[in-house]
Amino acid sequence: MPKEIFPSSFQCDCGHQSDFAERIVRDMRAMSQKKKVYLADSAPEEHTIVFYRGKLVEIQCPKQTQSHETRKSPRTSTSSTKRATTRGIPNEVKTDVAARVEHFNTTVLRTPHCVYVPRYRGKFLYLDRQDDGRLSPICRLEYTGNMEDWSFAIYKYSDERYDEEEWFFPGAEHVDGTLEGAMKAGLEAYTP
Ligand SMILES: [Zn+2]
Repeated sequence: MPKEIFPSSFQCDCGHQSDFAERIVRDMRAMSQKKKVYLADSAPEEHTIVFYRGKLVEIQCPKQTQSHETRKSPRTSTSSTKRATTRGIPNEVKTDVAARVEHFNTTVLRTPHCVYVPRYRGKFLYLDRQDDGRLSPICRLEYTGNMEDWSFAIYKYSDERYDEEEWFFPGAEHVDGTLEGAMKAGLEAYTP
């Protein structure tokens, strides 16, 4: 398995290490939320780091030919998740969401004056935040069939809508598919 070396280096199975500027890796993670993105180092034996949903998913190694197959078809997993999202969110997932939001509120926010409040419509979970009695939209998560893999869209006050293409906001690097990542991002995007 390829390894991430904090904060912005990556080690291939062959032992090769790719080093990048922290800013570049942060931007690539942010850009990879909706699609795979590729970051090539400029070493003589060029390795390409593949990010998806903010995480390292693969290192394409010039010494391993089978990795070239994935380069030709970078989008493979969209059809299965699409099927799951056409239905609403199951009740057991909503129960789990309520518990995790509550846990975040009490362990991270730690004040009754600022809490996340979940609400639902179809396949979407909306996370609003109540700051001193005022309820404001923060972000929208789309259920993909996996509790740890929600699609994220930040609320944009300038457009008064949720924007899943917007990834340049403070806190975007926390978005990792989980509820906790989304709530952390929301805290930086919109400081209570
Ligand atoms: Zn390698």
